[in-house]
Amino acid sequence: MQTVKDIFLDQKKIFLRAGFDVPIEAGEILEKGRILAGIPTLKYLLQKKCRIILAFHIGRPEGKCVPALGVGPVCAELSRILKMPIRQAPGCVDSASQRLAQGLRPGGILVLENLRFYRGEEENDLVFAQKLRLGAQVFVQDAFSVLHRAHASVVALPQFCQQSKKAEVVAGLLVEREANFLRAAQERPAHPAVVVIGGAKTETKIPVIKNLLRQGFDRALVGGVVANNFLAILGRDLQDSLVDQDHLAVTKALWQEFPGQIIVPQDSLWNIQKQIYDIGPQTIEHYTKIIRKAKTIVWNGPLGVFEQAPFAQGTQKIAEAILAARARNVVGGGDTVMALQKFKLYDQFDFVSTGGGVMLEFLAGKELPGLKILES
Ligand code: ADP
Ligand code: MG
Repeated sequence: MQTVKDIFLDQKKIFLRAGFDVPIEAGEILEKGRILAGIPTLKYLLQKKCRIILAFHIGRPEGKCVPALGVGPVCAELSRILKMPIRQAPGCVDSASQRLAQGLRPGGILVLENLRFYRGEEENDLVFAQKLRLGAQVFVQDAFSVLHRAHASVVALPQFCQQSKKAEVVAGLLVEREANFLRAAQERPAHPAVVVIGGAKTETKIPVIKNLLRQGFDRALVGGVVANNFLAILGRDLQDSLVDQDHLAVTKALWQEFPGQIIVPQDSLWNIQKQIYDIGPQTIEHYTKIIRKAKTIVWNGPLGVFEQAPFAQGTQKIAEAILAARARNVVGGGDTVMALQKFKLYDQFDFVSTGGGVMLEFLAGKELPGLKILES
C-alpha cells in the first residue's frame, strides 16, 4: 500500500478524504477522537506545503442539505488545533467551490461541505466523483471508518484518478496505521490469541469469531446478546433475554466447528424483566484468567448493558483485565469505545480503531472496497 510518505508531494494539490464524522449537537462537537486521529496526516501535508482540499461526511443527511450536519464546527475545531485560518467552501462541486479550490495556495486548506449532502456520494456516482476531484494531483485516503462503503469519495473518485492517471492515489497515515494494526493482529497473532466479543448485533459479530478462529485464534470469549445466542443453542433457560433468532443456526454451526474454543458465560446478572443484562462474577473471573495468559487480544462489543450502572461491571472488569494482560490489544466498536470513555480507560489501550463497522468487516475477513483500491 503506497502512502503519503512514498510519493513526492511538495506544493501539490491534494484531495484528502478524512474520517471526521463526529457527533455534533447544537453546533458543539461531543467527541473529538476522530478529528484528533486525522491530524498527523494533515500536519504532514502542511509540512510539504500542499494545497489541501479536505472532504468528509457527517451523519446521514441522505443526499439532502441538512444545516445541522454542516462541516462548520469541524472547520472551527481544525482551525483551533492547527492554529491557522481554514477556508470553508459553500458546497463540494458547485462553481464557487471549484473557484476556491483553484485559488488554493501552498500550505492552505479548503474544507468542502458534507459529502453526503450530495446523492452522488452514497450512490458512488462517477460523474459526481469526476467533478469532486477539483483538479487535485494526489488523492489521499485517510478515512478508515468508511473503507467498507462503496461511495464516491471511497471508490469512484480514487478509481477514476487511477484509471485516468489524473491523480496518484495513496493512503494517509491513519489508514496505514489502522490497516497495519488490524492486519497484524489477525494474520500474525502471538499465542495464546483471544477474541472477546459482546454487544448486540449478532450478525456482524459471528463472522468475526468464525474468521479469527479459522485464522488460528485459540479462544473466543462471548458476552452480551451474542452470548445469549450460544446459551440458547445449548438449551439454557434464558427467560425473556434478547436472542437473535435469525442467527441461531449460524451460531450452532460455529459452535460445532470449533469444539471447546468458544467460552460462554457460566453465570449472569438479570434485570427485573427477567433478562440477562451482564455476565456474572464467576464468568468475570474465568474470562480474566484466560485473558491474563493471552498474548494477543481482539475485543469488540460490551459484555453487558454498560449504560446502566448495575450492569457495567462485566464490561469494566474485562476492560481492566485486558489492560493488565501483557498482550497486544486491538479494540473497537462504537459502543465499546463509549464504554471505555465512560470508564476513563480509553487512552490506555494500544490501539482503538476509529471505525466500528469497518473493523468488524475487516476482522471477518471481508474485502473492503476502499482498501482494495489503495492496494492495487
Ligand atoms: P459495538 O458498537 O461496540 O460494536 P454493539 O452495537 O454490537 O457494540 O452492541 C452494543 C449494545 O449492546 C450496547 O448498547 C449494550 O447495552 C447492548 N448489550 C450488551 N449486552 C446486552 C444484553 N445482555 N442484552 C441486551 N443488550 C445488551
Ligand atoms: Mg454499536
